[in-house]
Formats: sequence, C-alpha cells, structure tokens
Amino acid sequence: MTYKAEYIWLDGTRPTAKLRSKTKILATGSEPPVWGFDGSSTNQAEGHASDRVLQPVASYPDPIRGGDDVLVLCEVFHTDNTPHESNTRAALREVAERHAAQEPLFGIEQEYTFFKGSRPLGFPDGGFPAPQGGYYCGVGTDEISGRPTVEKHLENCLAAGLAISGINAEVMPGQWEFQVGPLGPLDVADQLWVARWLLYRTAEDFGLSATLDPKPAKGDWNGAGAHTNFSTRKMRESYDAVIEAAEALGRDGKPLEHITNYGIGVEARLTGAHETAPWDKYSYGVSDRGASVRIPWQVEVEQKGYIEDRRPNANVDPYVVTRLIVDTCATALEKAGLA
Ligand code: ADP
Ligand code: MN
Ligand code: MN
Ligand code: MN
Repeated sequence: MTYKAEYIWLDGTRPTAKLRSKTKILATGSEPPVWGFDGSSTNQAEGHASDRVLQPVASYPDPIRGGDDVLVLCEVFHTDNTPHESNTRAALREVAERHAAQEPLFGIEQEYTFFKGSRPLGFPDGGFPAPQGGYYCGVGTDEISGRPTVEKHLENCLAAGLAISGINAEVMPGQWEFQVGPLGPLDVADQLWVARWLLYRTAEDFGLSATLDPKPAKGDWNGAGAHTNFSTRKMRESYDAVIEAAEALGRDGKPLEHITNYGIGVEARLTGAHETAPWDKYSYGVSDRGASVRIPWQVEVEQKGYIEDRRPNANVDPYVVTRLIVDTCATALEKAGLA
C-alpha cells in the first residue's frame, strides 16, 4: 500500500519567490523523508552542482487528492546542510525562538486577484467594469466574479486543517481576501504559504489563475495587500503595550527597513490613496484605514488587543514580515518593561 506526498517549497526567483511542488509515492506507515530536486531549474543552483535538499517541516492532509495523501511543506538546504539563500524560514525560526516567551500571534489578511487570460476576472474584454463601490462584500452576478473557486479554496483550506478565520470579496471585481490566524509566527507563515499553494491549485481546476500582484489593474482601482495583525501576550492584556508596539514600528529607521521588505512594488501601492498611507511617512491611529498601522476601534475600547500593519503587499513573504514585526516590537516591549 502507498500514499502520495506533495512536497511544496519556495524557489529562488527574485524579487518574489514562486511556489514549486512535486509528488513522492511513499509506503503506507512511513514518514515523508528528506528529498532532493534540481536547483538549476528553480533559480536555486548553477547547472554543474545543482542538487538541493528538501527538508520536510510541516505536513497537512491533502484536500485535493484526499484519502491518506498529504501536503508536505519543506525548507531548502544545500547538500552540506546549511540553509539555502532562498530559505527565509530559517531566519524566522531563530527570531521566533528568541521571542517565544512573549507568545506572539499573527493574523494575516491575504488579498489576491483572479485572472482569466490577461484580464482580471469580471473585467469585460477591451473595456472596464463600473467603478469600485459595490464589489466589496457584494452579492449577485453583477457584483461578484469567481465565487465557486473561492468557496472551493475555502473548503480545501479547512480540510487541510489550516486556521482560516474568514473570507470576503474585495473592492475590485475578481479581487478576494482570506485570513489566516491568529497563530504563532512560524505556523501563520507556513499555513499562508500552503493556503497560497491551494489557491493556485484550486483555481487550475476552474481555468483561472490567481495573482498576488500588488497593483493588478492600473488606474483608479485598489491594490492588493496583506494586512498583518500582531499581538504579544502583554498587548492582549495592556493598552500601554499596544501603543508601545505601534510606536516601535516608527522608530530608529524601522519604517524604511520594514517597507523595503514588505513585497516588491510596495511604493506603487502605498500612494496615500485607496485606503493606504504614503510609503515614506509612518503613522498610526485608532480606526484609521489611512494610517500605516491601525489600532482597531474595539482595541481602544477594551484597552487591549492587537495592531494591524497595513503596509505589507499581497506578494510579501510571510516568513519575512513576521520576522521583522516580532523582532522590532518584541525587542522594544522588552526594553520598555512590557514583555
Ligand atoms: P479587517 O477589519 O482589517 O478587514 P479581518 O477580519 O480581515 O480585519 O482580519 C483580522 C485578522 O486579525 C484575523 O486574521 C484575525 O484572526 C486576526 N486577529 C484577531 N485578534 C488577533 C490578535 N490578538 N493578534 C493577532 N491577530 C489577531
Ligand atoms: Mn480584512
Ligand atoms: Mn482587505
Ligand atoms: Mn485589514
């Protein structure tokens, strides 16, 4: 008896990594072992010494194939056991461990856009749909494009055991969002990568492609982001800690360090229009969807909770954004006696 394991990894494509996967047939009862691949075909090696190593780090029931089949998320290593340069998870492991005592949690809102051919789904051939206004959380064929795919993706994520907290239609036709979390930094990032893989894979069966392009349509259309919600145990108990985290993200060169790692094309999306703050001016505020960082209104009312970093692009690497936020905020909270 056998089962199928779909090994999934991030490739070396720059500036934005792509997902890759291939299938291994395993004997029932055996665990997915370390495996290898040809790094010269994934921008992870030159041709002459191209073997790269796939190290399984997390496994999920495979909702596409079903049965005992699994999805196996991997880190990429060199054959000498050092993490490959494209392995952004390795750096997060260290930082997450350093700050684990503060019990950081993340919820990431992944926006994305369906395309059919070269047009966003719902854009008529050679023309444009009616301006934004009715699409966000809309209902009806005149407002909504791609719902069967979205529903199937949601079902697949839940069947894989992913901690999806919700979905909604977004402000542009063909644009949608799902949220993963709240979870610790490694889990939220692992699960977001697997949810992205399931998005692309599910959309294949509907003849659609999904893109994380932060500005999928030129003109007066919202971009696509990955709002990143964050808290520590202390922030979930104290408003002082919430404010300190929001302040810390604005200090000591942090705004530029963060923004340059929040996904390629972030300046084109964070213009100051379309519910964004300008990329070169850090701000935070209660209920303020025009700020870099929003403190949700209930958080102010309850005087505890979390902050929302609205800057990350849809195409951000969740291993990178969670590493930067937990490092900046947890380090500052500790210094301030709010750990
Ligand atoms: P928005 O109003 O910005 O659209 P969403 O409901 O789409 O918000 O997403 C909010 C996200 O914040 C969810 O993923 C949720 O799980 C997450 N979240 C809620 N509480 C916390 C918390 N204490 N720490 C981190 N994330 C949280
Ligand atoms: Mn949202
Ligand atoms: Mn949204
Ligand atoms: Mn949001």
